[in-house]
Amino acid sequence: MSQSEASRFDYLVIGSGIAGLWFAYKASRHGSVLVITKKEDTESNTNYAQGGIAAAVAENDSAAIHREDTARAGQGLADPEIVRLVTEAGPGLVRELFDLGVKFTVYVDAQGQQRFDLGREGGHHRRRIIHAQDFTGYEIERGLLKAVHSQPGVTISEEHFALDLVLDQDERCQGVRVLNKETGRVETVRAKATMLGTGGIGQAYLHTTNPLIATGDGIAMGERAGVRVANMEFIQFHPTSLYGHSLEGRAFLISEAVRGEGAILRAKDGSTFMERYHPDASLAPRDAVARAIDSEMKKRGDNYVLLDATHLDPERIRERFPNIYNRCLGFGIDITKRPIPVVPAAHYVCGGLAINSWAETSVERLFAAGECACSGLHGANRLASNSLLEALVLADRAAQRVGGLEPLPARSLRDPESGAAVSTAFDPPDESSEAVAAEVRNELRRIMWDYAGIVRNDSGLTKAWESLAELEERAGRFSRHLSVFCQETSNLLAVAQLVVACARRRLESRGLHYNEDYPHKDDRFKKNTEISREEPAAAKPDPTG
Ligand SMILES: Cc1cc2nc3c(=O)[nH]c(=O)nc-3n(C[C@H](O)[C@H](O)[C@H](O)COP(=O)(O)OP(=O)(O)OC[C@H]3O[C@@H](n4cnc5c(N)ncnc54)[C@H](O)[C@@H]3O)c2cc1C
Repeated sequence: MSQSEASRFDYLVIGSGIAGLWFAYKASRHGSVLVITKKEDTESNTNYAQGGIAAAVAENDSAAIHREDTARAGQGLADPEIVRLVTEAGPGLVRELFDLGVKFTVYVDAQGQQRFDLGREGGHHRRRIIHAQDFTGYEIERGLLKAVHSQPGVTISEEHFALDLVLDQDERCQGVRVLNKETGRVETVRAKATMLGTGGIGQAYLHTTNPLIATGDGIAMGERAGVRVANMEFIQFHPTSLYGHSLEGRAFLISEAVRGEGAILRAKDGSTFMERYHPDASLAPRDAVARAIDSEMKKRGDNYVLLDATHLDPERIRERFPNIYNRCLGFGIDITKRPIPVVPAAHYVCGGLAINSWAETSVERLFAAGECACSGLHGANRLASNSLLEALVLADRAAQRVGGLEPLPARSLRDPESGAAVSTAFDPPDESSEAVAAEVRNELRRIMWDYAGIVRNDSGLTKAWESLAELEERAGRFSRHLSVFCQETSNLLAVAQLVVACARRRLESRGLHYNEDYPHKDDRFKKNTEISREEPAAAKPDPTG
């Protein structure tokens, strides 16, 4: 494969979601920035976020109350210092976004003061969800891209796929190897700091709210480069995605805010069931609702349940949820007149590349923020609307940190031929390797859904582990092929193995990890599950180590 000379920037960002763009915007004050993104710049999980971004801005709210709610959701694993940092920084940064031109929904109060319209979501004891109707992520993405494009020091390269990190012989990150999808060339970009903002792993599951870009590339790349990975067992399944309609590989989300406004979950026969599972019934936390729906569907043999908003004021529904209303109407469902058929779907990964409070990974000069990172904010469960906030705060702190970095001394790269963390001599893509990759991808998504999904058990996790190992052998057929689809599939396989490896080590149920063989919490496991190159994913589960 042809290769071009290395290009150099002060800062290199992989990903154009909220984490990557906010870092780029802020870091451009200290030097030149290149943002690499594998499709068009808007395509990201951020773009599809609906509910909003949590911040304690109401008069009856405070960072301390937000802190308590976040820690409670985290079930003993949320890092208190990170929770404090994020909840305290939230109101200021959300205000900065607004002042930058992100049009959050506002109203004017009786005293003539402009205020954010605040939504309420499960687990929050105050109204604190700042939103732009029900297309908050779209509006944030739009506003941030506009801000970033106006910075002369920032270059955005769309349709560039990051293949692997580049390390020097002192194990420092020097940049990344990138496939330019238009030219087919592999390029090396070097920078004094590299930021991974590559988002989540939803496409590792058969049903997901995440778009096709969510293939865990950053987590897989980081792990290959030796970064410690943590808490991958904590996968959040959103209880209510629209049943029966796929939008380019993702399920359409029916925001939790719809239940916040009073919509009720019902079985297909119209009966309610949530009161049998949780005192907060339809407003119970996401994990409880997802498990209850899973259990009802299995018990009844139904393939969906209903979310009923027909008793609510139709005007209010249309005004508050124009995106959901119109999208469902397009599928022939007027949600003010008919209950919405819904199923749970993989939504968010709480784990990822372990970072400290400055978003630094365990590899020098490599930063990570947003969904690909594990800062410790969420612990065992994520409070709704805390992820956009986490991405914003940690990306902001990373941008502060990189300002003081000296240029990297010239050092030989670890793999002089390719410069990558691992040797990456690629073969040209061919149709048969793509076909094998497609089979492997489909199978792994099914395996993860069946055995590492909402309710897990030991035998299922063992089966998943063994089946993924078999797929790994088949992946040898395409893992060196220079095709985005093949490389993404290899990355999906790697992150699926990380999820299962972490899940097999947690012999208890806590937060988003529910194992029916150990249905309760066990304080011997009240700690993060960490995996690193020195302690490979294949290591046997160790209950007490
Ligand atoms: C439907 C939906 C609704 C949600 N609603 C909310 C909500 O209301 N509130 C909330 O707080 N959270 C919500 N979330 C979660 C939240 O949107 C995400 O966690 C957050 O946007 C992640 O931001 P990010 O910057 O980390 O990653 P993303 O926004 O996913 O961006 C990742 C970027 O990395 C790029 N990329 C990935 N791999 C590569 C590669 N190899 N090379 C180059 N580029 C690459 C992608 O193309 C993309 O640009 C929602 C998620 C979904 C899917």
